[in-house]
Amino acid sequence: MRHVDSFKTGVKQNKIYIFDGPHGSGKSTFLNNLLRKFEEYANSPEGVSYEVVWRLKHDHLVGGVHSLNSLTDKLAWVLENDGQRELASEFKCACKDHVTADGYFDIPCPSHDNPLLLIPKEMRRQFFDDLFENDEFKWHLFTEKKYEWLFQDEPCTFCVSLYQELIKKYHDPLKVMDYVFARPYVFNRRLGQGVSVFNPGDKPLRHTVLSNEVIQKNLDALLPGSKRVSYLYSRYAKTNNGIYALMDIKSHNTERLMELHNIISDGVHKVEDIEENVNSLLFALMNPEDKKLLDDMHAFADRVEFINIPYVLDLQTEVDIYRENFGKHIDESFLPRVLHNFARIIIATRLRTQSEAMEEWIGGPEKYALYCDKHLQLLKMEIFTGHIPEWLSEEDVSNFTAKRRQKIVAESEKDGWKGLSGRDSIKMFNEFYSTYVRDDKLIDMSMLGKYFREFCKNDRDILPMGFLDSLLRMYNYTVLQEVKESLYYYNEEQISKDIINYIFAVNFEIGAVELCEFTSDRLEITDEFFEHIELRLQVEPADAVAFRNSVQKTYTTIALPQEMLRDGLLITETSLYAHLYEKCIHNLKEKVLEPFLKNENFRRAVKVFNREEFKTYDRKIQNDITYMMENLQKKHNYSRQGAKEICTYVVDNNIAENFALPVK
Ligand SMILES: [Zn+2]
Repeated sequence: MRHVDSFKTGVKQNKIYIFDGPHGSGKSTFLNNLLRKFEEYANSPEGVSYEVVWRLKHDHLVGGVHSLNSLTDKLAWVLENDGQRELASEFKCACKDHVTADGYFDIPCPSHDNPLLLIPKEMRRQFFDDLFENDEFKWHLFTEKKYEWLFQDEPCTFCVSLYQELIKKYHDPLKVMDYVFARPYVFNRRLGQGVSVFNPGDKPLRHTVLSNEVIQKNLDALLPGSKRVSYLYSRYAKTNNGIYALMDIKSHNTERLMELHNIISDGVHKVEDIEENVNSLLFALMNPEDKKLLDDMHAFADRVEFINIPYVLDLQTEVDIYRENFGKHIDESFLPRVLHNFARIIIATRLRTQSEAMEEWIGGPEKYALYCDKHLQLLKMEIFTGHIPEWLSEEDVSNFTAKRRQKIVAESEKDGWKGLSGRDSIKMFNEFYSTYVRDDKLIDMSMLGKYFREFCKNDRDILPMGFLDSLLRMYNYTVLQEVKESLYYYNEEQISKDIINYIFAVNFEIGAVELCEFTSDRLEITDEFFEHIELRLQVEPADAVAFRNSVQKTYTTIALPQEMLRDGLLITETSLYAHLYEKCIHNLKEKVLEPFLKNENFRRAVKVFNREEFKTYDRKIQNDITYMMENLQKKHNYSRQGAKEICTYVVDNNIAENFALPVK
């Protein structure tokens, strides 16, 4: 995009832009997409540009247009049967354009000149000055670089000589202008019109000088006796003001590159004895091993601009490539994050293990050993996607200045030149996916680990040591947060209800069954009922009775008569409620999973969630688990099946214990 911006400043490029990247980095896909979009845009009303068509009138018609037409047809027929269908159709439409029924014949400028260039150069300033009001546009037109060509460029040799001959004939510039018409410049890559792409295997043209017999005859008839105006042009004229591209600098394209180099060094080249300007955007693709070619030609250096296309380093893009190749439905076969972790492993093979900018920022990476690899590649990938991970310390977050970010991004220019190519990664994804995709089980981290550990046996240096373990740790940390959060969100609502029910229930004897007048829950007031909430409030069983009494006393003396009845507050606005709620939440935030994970019933119930057996568990446990599962789906994009699998995973692997130290 920076290069595109630089075009706008209008500086004469005279350069070959070489897209440089390792094998399978998607260079040709990139160039094809770019050309397709360019063609689309250039042929749209917004992107249209115009070219010169000379519409000349015969003084008397030359030797029978009709016989010419039949000759045209014959030639087209020959070409068509020679397998050169495209050439034939081009020839047909070209000829059709040239002679109209009323004796006019059209000659398009072979170099697709803009019609404004036919205004004599020394008059253009005056011309535009007269044409436009003294408004802002005129000011831009006269001052901005991007309009400079309007005042500086010359028309092609053919247009210039035709213009001069017509002046000689008519002695009136304005009359000559009557013959100048404009038509949209039609870009057609298949016809090599405006956009041309050469593959290394494309043989050089037998005739490097192109002409048109019909046009030449018409011209000669119109301008007899004068110096011959030759309608001759080269292959380059066809892409003048367009794009000329070389796919891979090999075989015949090497010769083409050399030729281009000579042309841009001089700015013009000879077509027989006519000089032809070449003003095209010149692109070429290059693989690292072909760069040697340029080393041999020192003169190239100032004529070549390299644009790096390394392997994909952006996580989201890498995943989008899998989706593009295998369909969006692949997401459904993975537990959340696992698909992205596949991409993380692929990207890790492309990153260098040394990063000065990262080291300077983080210092000792050991402090993040629980979440990140020792080379900080995982952190770097997060930075590339613009995400700051939660486990990063406050200090490091605040040290992450714009300058530091820039430095990391700048350094990344050296990444993406080794490791698994785009082609490799698609092949591997295909292999991995078809091995592990199943209807009844989502693809999880253990499958990913198994696949890549096997792969690394054959290529031990492809991944840094310990990367897969670090990736798993980061994954574990993240899913643990998700499960915790899901339980916690649920508790915010549920705890509120539980506390209100508790405050209400302490007013009754054990064994009573009451309808809570605030929550409308039907409460079976038992010791178990109290204990469940007291556990969360961290009330020791020995103090339980005293605690219940004090809650009841506060309720009947302060909360109910003063705050609620007298001041009209809701029960949730009373200080008693606030006190109990705060006590509960505080513990929960810290250790939300602990009471659950210690509870064997909870662990077992998680595993039978979705099954008939689940209903045999305590109502409370059923509710807790159901809410947790729902939150995982709502807030973290798990499927129903995925939510169950991830909870089972956290429970079975004692993930919570691994991260028992307070984080941050
Ligand atoms: Zn021209």
